[in-house]
Amino acid sequence: MSQQATEQVHGHYIGGEWTTSAGDRPQSGDGSEDTFESENPATGETLATFQRGTEADVDAALEAAEDAFEEWRDLSAIDRAEYLWDIYHELRDRHEELGEIVSQECGKEISEGKADVTEAWHMVEWAAGNARHPHGDVVPSEVPGKDAYMRRKPRGVVGCITPWNFPVAIPFWHMAIALVEGNTVVWKPAEQTPWCAQIIAEMMDDAGIPDGVFNMVQGFGDAGAAITDDDRVDTVLFTGSAEVGHEIASKVGGQPGKLAACEMGGKNGIVVTEEADLDIAVHSAVMSSFKTTGQRCVSSERLIVHEDVYDEFKARFVDIAEDVAVGDPLDAETFMGPAIEADHIEKIRQHNELARDEGANVLVDRFELGDEEIPDGHEGGHWVGPFVYEIDYEPDLRCLNEECFGPHVALLEYSGDIEEAVELHNDTPYGLAGAIISEDYRQINYFRDHAELGLAYANLPCIGAEVQLPFGGVKKSGNGYPSAREAIEAVTERTAWTLNNSKEIE
Ligand code: NAD
Repeated sequence: MSQQATEQVHGHYIGGEWTTSAGDRPQSGDGSEDTFESENPATGETLATFQRGTEADVDAALEAAEDAFEEWRDLSAIDRAEYLWDIYHELRDRHEELGEIVSQECGKEISEGKADVTEAWHMVEWAAGNARHPHGDVVPSEVPGKDAYMRRKPRGVVGCITPWNFPVAIPFWHMAIALVEGNTVVWKPAEQTPWCAQIIAEMMDDAGIPDGVFNMVQGFGDAGAAITDDDRVDTVLFTGSAEVGHEIASKVGGQPGKLAACEMGGKNGIVVTEEADLDIAVHSAVMSSFKTTGQRCVSSERLIVHEDVYDEFKARFVDIAEDVAVGDPLDAETFMGPAIEADHIEKIRQHNELARDEGANVLVDRFELGDEEIPDGHEGGHWVGPFVYEIDYEPDLRCLNEECFGPHVALLEYSGDIEEAVELHNDTPYGLAGAIISEDYRQINYFRDHAELGLAYANLPCIGAEVQLPFGGVKKSGNGYPSAREAIEAVTERTAWTLNNSKEIE
């Protein structure tokens, strides 16, 4: 069971055409080539080859998006949504195939690969359905005879920049609502997952979306920066690392009239209280820390456990971490696939070393897997296993504050009440996701009201949120909402519209 990429070099999708790269190579001094390859992280093999986008490609895509805007804006939202319904059906029809491609290209085990596609169609369904929902507000006027409304209009050209770890769902989190609201789109997918991007562009093409309404430029950060820096872009939607997101937010903040909504990483925590159900606690911690090999924005890297249950929780969690099945993502028995790329393995290694240097008592170190753990024929993959440690809490420990984005997790013991647990939980610059495992509704409610985060769970793993809910973070994790329901704010202008129904002149 594996999908075959073709041997041709795939191009960009601009103005309704498949194009090859134009213009000079980026002068980044990084040995940039005209093309780049998509790699299977479980084997190290090349999956397919793609054109590397240049500033000239972004320029052409923005021109096409600008040209297409007026006609697209003037369709009704319901007519615009019709194109999205076609894509919804294609995502469902190609679920198996695309799920396997996600697994092959980003190393997620197969059920997660398919779940990425499911989440994409949920988003498309929500955005297309939204076209028939009330839009704007009728508000009371202070003056009899006057009608007052808040009306929404599309902003124009929306630049979407997405990460590799949800290569189908996140692009649709951004693009589905931007398109239904009447904007045109220029999308720069992650350089690690161009094959998934190629298929999404094929679906847009098959759906007959008018030329220039959707444009996709493959490539690296320089192509992303060409989007964020250009005056023709009205809104930038970004999901990815805090480093890049903050750079984009501050650049866009200096460009009048332009908006950026950015969702970034986390250093997420799970609080396990003294009367927690430990079956739920251990399950939640294992799922949150090791699924997707810890490479989810909501993955948990800190487990904050009450002293009364600490030893039992630790023993059970460590047992599973020692044993968790790392392997071929296409094998249904696998729990964790590989890390995305060789550079990322190095980053995880550095985080593990940092924890040791800062005084960690290491409980599980499967960073280097034994030969017998690596599946046959997968020796070239980027393999890594769980790293679990306990550490005495001190403020400013870097290992408790910096996102690793791998299967790297700290256990912290607390002895006081829920206030102390939440204080520990909040002591990080990030604020994306967190959970409390407790049978005491007062403690649960205290966590809900005082934990600094955008996504909070009780008696559940830290996982994604349903598309009807806002998805984003506070503190270093968020700067507006580029996705799901709240993204409507970023992709529409509001007009205060007042109508005088009488002959009276003010
Ligand atoms: P990344 O920030 O390295 O890259 C994200 C995208 O930005 C890519 O398309 C990349 O090419 C582009 N990019 C890089 N430099 C750029 C620049 N200077 N200007 C414009 N674009 C640029 O992130 P990644 O490694 O792909 O993804 C992992 C990170 O994303 C983690 O930190 C994770 O927590 C975060 N993430 C957050 C969420 C969320 O919803 N909060 C979801 C998924 C991933």
